[in-house]
Amino acid sequence: MKRHRIAVYWFRRIIRLDDNQALLAATAAAEYVVPVFVPDPALLAHPNTAPARVDFLFEALADIDASLRERGSRLIVRSGQPVEELARLVRETGATALFFSRDYEPYARSRDAAVTESLRELGVTVETGSDLLTIEPDEIFTGAGKPYTVFTPYKKVWWERPIPEPQEAPARVPFPPSEIFSDPLPERTGSSGTTEPRPLVHGSEREARSRLEAFLRDKVVSYDTGREPPGSEGTSRLSAYLKMGVLSARRLLAAVRQVRKEALAARRLAGGPDTFLAELAWRDFYYQILWHFPSVAERSFRPAYEGIAWENREEYFDAWRDGRTGYPIIDAAQRQLKSEAWMHNRARMITASFLTKDLLCDWRLGEAYFMRMLIDGDLAANNGGWQWAASTGTDAQPFFRIFNPVAQGERFDADGVYVRRYVPELRRVPNRFLHRPWELSPSEQEAVGCVLGRDYPYPIVDHKTQREKALALYRRAADPAAGKGQ
Ligand code: FAD
Repeated sequence: MKRHRIAVYWFRRIIRLDDNQALLAATAAAEYVVPVFVPDPALLAHPNTAPARVDFLFEALADIDASLRERGSRLIVRSGQPVEELARLVRETGATALFFSRDYEPYARSRDAAVTESLRELGVTVETGSDLLTIEPDEIFTGAGKPYTVFTPYKKVWWERPIPEPQEAPARVPFPPSEIFSDPLPERTGSSGTTEPRPLVHGSEREARSRLEAFLRDKVVSYDTGREPPGSEGTSRLSAYLKMGVLSARRLLAAVRQVRKEALAARRLAGGPDTFLAELAWRDFYYQILWHFPSVAERSFRPAYEGIAWENREEYFDAWRDGRTGYPIIDAAQRQLKSEAWMHNRARMITASFLTKDLLCDWRLGEAYFMRMLIDGDLAANNGGWQWAASTGTDAQPFFRIFNPVAQGERFDADGVYVRRYVPELRRVPNRFLHRPWELSPSEQEAVGCVLGRDYPYPIVDHKTQREKALALYRRAADPAAGKGQ
């Protein structure tokens, strides 16, 4: 006997049927389930929302509608404010329960609390499931009962935890017999045109699973080394699927653990799977930071560094954004972001360090720009990454460790594949000079068709000088008294 005749399942960003605990709970608890999506103007019209991310979301919604139709159901869309629209839907359908998958961002927390309160007032049961992460943010604590703020001990506990077996999608999602009004799915933003980014990934569960299979087959074994060069395709490119919950992080974790187990059983090295699992731990780690310290969304985790006197020179920021800093690895990274709405992790680290520590711009400017561009833009990971690079975060690198963009380029893009792909003006520059083209003589520049100041910019800043300035800014912020005499 089911507890409810009709339940509503509210899709927000776990846009999948596979391993969706909250949806499975709804189908188990109710005779009929109404799947609904409420395009939330607060999110969709937010200035930091990337068009590529919205397109990905709408693709995923169209895909989920098709999958629901194969199961005797369909996606209902209700435009408006979630609190009002869900209350209206509940009244119209006579639903007595609402199910959704938990979210942990500050805005989502307050929205979900408001929805829960308003529906409970209507006598509706509200139940949630855990579908975004592999571990809840309030599941593990230090011996002193505090949240972890250092990654390595967190990972140690994370590593040993058993996780629930991933669940298959429900075979049927029974839809109520009565007619239910639906708005059309919102129009795509059209960011797949010629001048906007053309992402390499598209929102569909099938595509997520086939990317996962390909990664497990071809890449995970050598991920520990393959992930580093930004010019190679050594990473999974699953980030947008994880961000939007089109792929279950539990399923991914279980699959990679299995590869690891098989490798160890066959006495093979498991460096690839081990390194990949650590990245999934970082994802959960940053979510638990955001959950326990929501102020990181606005401020430095380390209060002292709120006092850094960033220069924030607009022309520097613009040159960085547009990929014309004169540092090839930085320009390649920024142009990759513009053309694909995605950037390789190593490139994110180098370019974030450059904006903050070479151009002396506040990490929040870079963080917001990444959110406006990235198809996988995710508050927890993006904020964690930026605060790490700016040395203001929980488990950040020390401020005196400042990436040298030339050394990083030469180390991780020695063959120049990455730079040549995104900065075609440098295509004919020999490898020896590719990351330092200013060392070519004028006649050599002519010979390779790349004259500095004409075809490609001179470096906008001198790394050594800026490094010293950055160190002084950080020291002054950490110890304002010491800076007074300078
Ligand atoms: P893979 O290397 O295949 O990793 C697999 C998955 O693990 C990723 O899809 C991601 O979900 C997770 N992951 C990997 N590295 C990290 C990490 N350092 N922190 C948290 N999760 C990680 N990741 C985002 O998903 N969204 C962001 O907005 C984001 N912004 C970043 C900003 C900066 C400045 C930095 C340094 C990193 C950022 N990252 C972000 C983390 C990382 O760069 C991306 O997750 C990764 O490049 C995505 O590509 P992939 O799926 O091929 O990664």
